[in-house]
Amino acid sequence: MPKLHLLKFAGYLMEDKKGIAILGSTGSLGRQSLEVIRLNSTQFFIELLFASFNTDLLLEQAIEFKPNIVIHADELRQQELSDMLFPRGIKCFCGDKALLQSLELEGIDIVFNAISGFPGIKPTIQAIKYGKTLALANKESMVVAGNQVAKIYTEKGGSIIPVDAEHSGIFQSILGEYSNTIEKIVLTSSGGPFKGIDLSDLQNMTKKQALSNPHWKMGNKITIDSSTMINKGFEIIEASWLYNLNFSQLELLIHPESIIQSMVYFEDGSVKAQLAMHDMRIPIQYAFSFPNRIKSEFPRVDLLKTGALTFEDPDLSAYPNLKLSYLAAEKGGNLPAILNAGNEIAVQAFLTEEIKFNDIYRINDKCLNSIDYIQEPSFEDLEDTDKKTRQFAKTLIY
Ligand code: NDP
Ligand code: MG
Repeated sequence: MPKLHLLKFAGYLMEDKKGIAILGSTGSLGRQSLEVIRLNSTQFFIELLFASFNTDLLLEQAIEFKPNIVIHADELRQQELSDMLFPRGIKCFCGDKALLQSLELEGIDIVFNAISGFPGIKPTIQAIKYGKTLALANKESMVVAGNQVAKIYTEKGGSIIPVDAEHSGIFQSILGEYSNTIEKIVLTSSGGPFKGIDLSDLQNMTKKQALSNPHWKMGNKITIDSSTMINKGFEIIEASWLYNLNFSQLELLIHPESIIQSMVYFEDGSVKAQLAMHDMRIPIQYAFSFPNRIKSEFPRVDLLKTGALTFEDPDLSAYPNLKLSYLAAEKGGNLPAILNAGNEIAVQAFLTEEIKFNDIYRINDKCLNSIDYIQEPSFEDLEDTDKKTRQFAKTLIY
């Protein structure tokens, strides 16, 4: 199965303003991307905004940024939203189909996909099919459907610029290295809020404790995934597809200071890494401005203040969900899709306080061991796996 090689595309000249479609504009990354655009309104404009439940915020954003089109995921909101936006000269459509069709718009140079979860996959595929530059945050696109994305990318060509901080760092480290072989890539993790706590003591950890990530302010789902460390396993799968690496070429180190997100080891013994403070506006802005950089006031790395940068091996026995994600990464097929779907249901149930912290692992493990394995899934197989796993996972909430 072909994987991706992200250096295979031409860059931009920053002469023209770039039109951006923000998918998931009401979420944590979506809102940060709007801040980047607000700060750089001479370089970027918003052509399209898309969101799901948070209608009030979507409308507020539309009124401020005056995009050409606003799309709401819910088809039932069409009349109400059109009535509000049309008099302001903004077109409005509703439903997923409308989104997929609108991504073809000529005014869109960059599609920023910051939708959370499985619903982000089809827009990723469609943006590549339309030849748009894809600034990719939705990690489920690569975790669940990396094989499909790689196939379409290989057929159509295209441009993917990763936004996930680790993958943005890798991307920046491999620029100019197109013909050089990567020996391995190391991703780092702070260890999350429960670093050093015994597995048996984790059972009583509350939602509030799990949501207190030491460095990053993110959406609730990914924050819980960081506390179970499954997020890191997903990032390893993501890196394997984006940078054409085997599972054995990807390693994880715990790095509590969280200054180095990733490191690329080359064959000659050199290692490259990109350093930045914990601020997602930096990789978002880079994805929008690539191959240029735009001056910003975002926080700077100050190694004298940070002090020593330390690294440890992860204790896999303390992170059982990470172990599951390694299994899914190694065996591939539809296992990442099963794990992703089971985990989305389990995390949602934890957030609504229907299950305890360690039940996330119980549900994920049971799903991986119960849903049929498919070695080379088609997109329809992945959709079917997702649906079946969600139904099954819901029966495990108690
Ligand atoms: P949030 O939960 O904060 O936001 C998710 C966005 O997706 C919202 O705009 C939401 O709309 C929209 N959305 C949710 N469900 C649907 C749906 N069914 N159809 C259409 N839109 C939907 O997530 P984050 O911003 O934290 O993360 C977004 C993605 O980026 C995830 O894949 C995450 O793993 C990845 N990522 C996030 C990072 C971060 O720092 N937050 C870092 C690296 C990667 P609404 O609010 O209107 O319901
Ligand atoms: Mg990350």
